[in-house]
Amino acid sequence: MTDTTVTNAKTASAYNDLLNLCVEASVLGSTGALLGWDQETMMPAQGLDLRGRQMAQIARMSHQMRTDPKIGELLAICEADAELMADPHSVAAANVRGIRREYDKSTKLPADLVEEMAKTTTQSKAHWAAARKANEFAQFLPWLEKIVELKRRQAECFGWPQDGEPWDALADLYEPGCTAKYVTSVFAPLREKLVALVEKLMASSQKPSDAFLREKLPIEQQMAFVRFVAEKIGFDFKRGRLDISTHPFCGGTHTNDIRMTTRFHDDNVLDALGSTMHESGHGMYEQGLKYEHFGTPAGDAISLGIHESQSRLWENQVGRSRAFWQWLHPKLGEFFGQTLATKYTLDDVYGAANLVQPDFIRVEADEATYNLHVMVRFEIERGLMNGSIRPADVPGVWNAKYNEYLGVTVPNDAKGCLQDVHWSMGAIGYFPTYTLGNLYCAQFFEKAAADLGNLDEMFAAGEFSALKRWLNEHIHQHGQRYEAAELCEVVTGKPLSAEPLLRHLESKLLPLYGC
Ligand code: ZN
Repeated sequence: MTDTTVTNAKTASAYNDLLNLCVEASVLGSTGALLGWDQETMMPAQGLDLRGRQMAQIARMSHQMRTDPKIGELLAICEADAELMADPHSVAAANVRGIRREYDKSTKLPADLVEEMAKTTTQSKAHWAAARKANEFAQFLPWLEKIVELKRRQAECFGWPQDGEPWDALADLYEPGCTAKYVTSVFAPLREKLVALVEKLMASSQKPSDAFLREKLPIEQQMAFVRFVAEKIGFDFKRGRLDISTHPFCGGTHTNDIRMTTRFHDDNVLDALGSTMHESGHGMYEQGLKYEHFGTPAGDAISLGIHESQSRLWENQVGRSRAFWQWLHPKLGEFFGQTLATKYTLDDVYGAANLVQPDFIRVEADEATYNLHVMVRFEIERGLMNGSIRPADVPGVWNAKYNEYLGVTVPNDAKGCLQDVHWSMGAIGYFPTYTLGNLYCAQFFEKAAADLGNLDEMFAAGEFSALKRWLNEHIHQHGQRYEAAELCEVVTGKPLSAEPLLRHLESKLLPLYGC
C-alpha cells in the first residue's frame, strides 16, 4: 500500500480538514446506525414513535454535514494537487475520490426532488404492501409509474457514462462504476448455462432428501450451535455481537463494534446456520477494515457486490461444502444430542444443504436458481429505466421470464412481481449486487484455493483461519482503494467472469443429483 506524501502545505491542510469533516459526519452516522440496530433487536414496541424522530434528526444533521459547501472547496484544492492524486490506489487518492462521490451524490439532486422521492417512497411502500396482500398489481401500478418517473429524473441529475444508459446512474449508488453493459457481459453467459444446469438436475431421478430440514430442534440449542460456528470461522465476538431479528442483517458502528443478527425457526436449523454464516461474512469484512481509517473511504467497504461476495463465500462456498460438513456433522451430537447425529448421515445433511428446487420466491431460492431470480429483476428494471418496458407491462414480462428461465408458472402477482419491497422503496439498480456478489465470491474463492493449497483438508479439520487471513489481506484491508471490478482483477488477475461460479455449481451439484 502506498501512502502519498503531500509536499504542498496548502493541500496538506485542506486534506486534513477534509478528513476531519468526513470523520465527524461518520461518527454521527454511526450513532444513527446503532439506533437502527437497537430498533430491530432490543427496543420495546412503545419506543417506536420517538425513535423515528431520533433517527430522522440524526439523518438530517448527517446530511447537513455531508453537504457542507466547505467540503466542495476542500475537495477542489485536493483534486488540483497532481502529487496527491498521482497514485490512484493511494489512501489519499481513494479518500478524495470517495468523498467526491458521496458529496456529488448528496448535492446533485435538487431539494424538491429529494423531498418528493422521500414522500413518494414512504407512501408507495404502504401501497405495495396492501397490493401484495390483496394480490392486486393495479393498486401498486400508479406508484410504480411515479417511482420510475422520479428515478429517471434522478438518473438525469446524476448523469451516466457516454456509452451508458440511465440505469447505470442508479446502480452506481450501490455498486460504484457498475453499468448495465458490465452486468450483461457476465449475466448473459451465466444465464444460458444456469438454465441448462437446472434443467439437467430437475430431469434426474436422483435427488437429495430434505428430511433434515423438517427436524424440530430447540432454539436455545440452535443459537449455541450457530454461535459456535460463527466463532470458529473467525467472527471476533470481542468486536461484535450476534442477536436475533426478523430479517437477519449486519450493521454496527465501526470495525471494532459489529452488530449482526440471525433468525430461527423451530425446524430447519440450516436456515439459521446459513443466515449466521452469511452475516458473519459481512461482519468479518467489516472487522477486516482498518480502524485507523475509520470514517473515511479508505476504511469503508467498496460496494454492495463485494460485501455480498464476502457473505456468500462463507455461506455457500464454505458452509455448503462436503468438507465443512465432515467437520460439523459430528458436532450435531454435541449440540443436539447423539440421536440426531445418528439419524442423519453426513450425506443426508450435506444433501439437504444443497437441494435445488426452481420456485417463484427469490428469498427462498437455492444457490443454483437464485441468480435467475436476480436476472429477471435486472432485465425488467433496466427496461423500465430506458423505456423499453412500461410499468403496466411488468406482470406479463415477469411471468414470461420466470417461465423461460426457471420453467415455472407464476400463480399470481403476490407470488410474482409484487414479492420484493425494493422497487417500492425506489431501490432500482440494487438487485444485481446479489448476483455480482456470487460471481465475485466464486472467483475470489478459486484464487484463494490456488494460493492456499487444500482448503477441503483445512475445512474438514475445522481450520478456517488461513482463508480468513487471505480475505483480510487481499480484500478487506483495502477499503475503497480499488473499485469492485478493479479489485477483482488485482486479486485474481482476471476480469470478472461467469466461469468460476458455474464450475463451483456444476462440480458440486451434478454428482449430488447423479448426473
Ligand atoms: Zn448479504
